Amino acid sequence: MATMESLIDLVNRIQRACTALGDYGGGGADLPTLWEALPSVAVVGGQSSGKSSVLESIVGKDFLPRGSGIVTRRPLVLQLHRIPGRGTEYAEFLHLPKRRFTDFSAVRKEIQDETDRITGKSRMISPIPIQLSIYSSNVVNLTLIDLPGLTKVAVEGQPESVVTDIEDMVRAYVEKPNSIILAISPANQDIATSDAIKLAREVDPSGERTFGVLTKLDLMDRGTNALDVIEGRSYRLQHPWVGIVNRSQADINKNTDMISARRKEREYFTSSPDYGHLSSKMGSEYLAKLLSGHLEKVIKAQIPNITSLINKTVDELESEMIQIGRPISIDAGAQLYTILGLCRAFDRIFKEHLDGGRAGGDKIYGVFDNQLPAALRKLPFDRYLSLQNVRRVISESDGYQPHLIAPEQGIRRLIEGSLRYFRGPAEASVDAVHIVLKELVRKSIIETQELKRFPTFQSEITAAAYEALERFRDDGRKTIIQLVEMEASYLTVDFFRRLPMEMEKNGTGDAPSSSQRVDRYSSEGHFRKLGSNVSSYIKMVSETLRLSIPKAVVHCQVLQAKQSLLERFYTQLGRREGNQLLNLLDEDPALMERRIQCAKRLELYKNARDEIDSVSWAR
Ligand code: GDP
Ligand code: MG
Repeated sequence: MATMESLIDLVNRIQRACTALGDYGGGGADLPTLWEALPSVAVVGGQSSGKSSVLESIVGKDFLPRGSGIVTRRPLVLQLHRIPGRGTEYAEFLHLPKRRFTDFSAVRKEIQDETDRITGKSRMISPIPIQLSIYSSNVVNLTLIDLPGLTKVAVEGQPESVVTDIEDMVRAYVEKPNSIILAISPANQDIATSDAIKLAREVDPSGERTFGVLTKLDLMDRGTNALDVIEGRSYRLQHPWVGIVNRSQADINKNTDMISARRKEREYFTSSPDYGHLSSKMGSEYLAKLLSGHLEKVIKAQIPNITSLINKTVDELESEMIQIGRPISIDAGAQLYTILGLCRAFDRIFKEHLDGGRAGGDKIYGVFDNQLPAALRKLPFDRYLSLQNVRRVISESDGYQPHLIAPEQGIRRLIEGSLRYFRGPAEASVDAVHIVLKELVRKSIIETQELKRFPTFQSEITAAAYEALERFRDDGRKTIIQLVEMEASYLTVDFFRRLPMEMEKNGTGDAPSSSQRVDRYSSEGHFRKLGSNVSSYIKMVSETLRLSIPKAVVHCQVLQAKQSLLERFYTQLGRREGNQLLNLLDEDPALMERRIQCAKRLELYKNARDEIDSVSWAR
């Protein structure tokens, strides 16, 4: 049967697991935290307000370090476990799991040493908690967190920042909504100046999770009392204020033990003319019971939330683990299998881009549909086939003897000269498609989630794909240059056979006399006619190339990229020795770390879920 006691125990166990696995609020970078969701009692107050004294009084043991300056420099998570019977009391630290402390002055020493282990002798503070469990028949089940005292000035040897560092650390604890704030203020000081109340008011304005504790009632000036505070008139909280009388420094010096200190405290209240009427609700024993009961209530209310948080987080962590992937096997066959799997994953995404499942492949069509035709249209044939240039090229080819019937040689030269212009747009198409393909490779690499794990392999496969694309581009270039050259190598005969006839039609109709002929052939009209004939031939060629260049580019570059982008890479992979494969698969260290962290956190959450499940719920 589950009792309320086992609830606090449950949270205690989860809390210990959290600390052991590095989950203590603000500790692990962007990992989900369970710690934050666990209810706990945080003790806050100014230096020397009596925090340590209250804690010791609740435990009924002397075990906390004392001294001047900032003694508590790491949070101390103090878990009190009530054990039945009169067995010996003992303490255990989470960081020393095999050691049972029965001597509480050794506990004090260990707290000091363990504080220094993390903070060094530098007197710095650290948010990493020390976890201490105390087992006793004299305690109530309760978890308290002792925090460094709020301070106003840094003392010698401490950096200025210590004041704000402490405040930030304390605030991080008390601002989580599950935190119960034990706000300690000394009675011999104006409550309006209390650091504890100031911070509590800031993070819990309604006062519903703040317990006000007034220490040092015995040190108030004779004739004054703290009833205004204790009865809630000075500063109102949802829970009643509790007055405390701890051991004075003189008591401590005299080694007054905790049992007689508690008795003295009880006597103080029962015999007090000021607080006598409240005596059953004053003192550290009452405070301990009050807190224990409240903590149980909060935990009980919180368990459903904690459970759903755990379930949600387990799901999240599990899917992240799947995404991160399993650690690399040391077996070469398994490595090759992994590598081929990565290649396939990349190849699939790349093909989806080309075939249109993903964006980007359409840019290739854009090259053929816009870029190439526009570039062809812009070629400067008007200038090259201007009257002046046609006349010049033809006259030069004629030499000393002007041509008689048709200037075959000149026409050939004009055509060859024109065809040279096509190389530019043709090569530009090859390059444009190359750039598109390269961009698709780059995108596909990024989109291949599996590759993220392996930066080395990622850059190798990228390099291999780029290298293949370069080869395809070279092929593409050669092919389109051939296409252009083919157009120059053999002119379409029919086209020119029609030429003289058309010229005749434009002439006088009579058989030309020789003088007329010379005149006609040298006339402007003649050259204009030749120019326009060459121009229409070039237009025809241009149309042919507009259609054939895309075919060549797709054949040499796009299809190759689709079919054999990684072919050579595969061959090279086959030649690698086992060790080289492993080198290929060296993981991003950050990712390896992340896998470990996620696994640890997942274990924590699953254990916590088991813990919660194992408690049978008695309501
Ligand atoms: P902390 O710095 O908040 O942990 O304060 P401590 O618990 O170390 O107390 C500081 C000093 O005040 C010690 O010398 C205590 O003996 C003394 N002190 C704390 N509470 C009381 C109290 O209720 N009455 C008297 N007389 N002295 C107290
Ligand atoms: Mg202290």
